[in-house]
Amino acid sequence: MKKILLIEDEDSISEFLELELKHEGFDVKVVDDGREGLDAAMNQEFDLILLDLMLPHLNGIEICRRLRVVKDTPVIMLTARDSVMDRVMGLDVGADDYVSKPFSIEELLARMRVIFRRQEKHEDSIAKHLKFKEIEVDTISRTVKNRSKEVTLTKREYELLLMFMQNVNRVLTREIILEKIWGYETFIETNVVDVYVRYLRNKISIEDENYIQSVRGVGYVMK
Ligand code: CA
Repeated sequence: MKKILLIEDEDSISEFLELELKHEGFDVKVVDDGREGLDAAMNQEFDLILLDLMLPHLNGIEICRRLRVVKDTPVIMLTARDSVMDRVMGLDVGADDYVSKPFSIEELLARMRVIFRRQEKHEDSIAKHLKFKEIEVDTISRTVKNRSKEVTLTKREYELLLMFMQNVNRVLTREIILEKIWGYETFIETNVVDVYVRYLRNKISIEDENYIQSVRGVGYVMK
């Protein structure tokens, strides 16, 4: 069941949408305040966010901008006016699509289907099996092998390794790593990245060959 977060402060619209979306088989969570909406979007997993523009405490543009720093959850903006500015701004801050009020439920459902289809295609294209030198990762069974021997990694170590394997030869800054692996736990300090890279290195290195190299003052690169 796909989970939808609806951030909308107009009761008549949110009640109508909640009813229709539930009828279509979606799991719907409704929030009527901008700040609470951002909180829910950051701390819970949704398949799609329907985001109103004018909201109490924090507007839709700002929510989308802040969300995009850490998460790729698809966003459809519900713009109140048929304003080109609103649409352009929404897309600029990373919204995937928009519908202008008043819209029909059929129109919204059609837009949602487009986004879900795009997502499924993207998921299919992610490699199921990654290999770098002697390291192999099977992303379906979440197993890691080093010279054909299975290596046991913690959840964070596994995520970290996957990130390096998907970005071979690309320097990853501590901040990027922190954002992607630790997400919205802002109290975490960047040196935790160094600690985890060290753990990971110890588990996947072979003799003197160091697969994850430090880039002074910046971060790490797998090469
Ligand atoms: Ca509103």
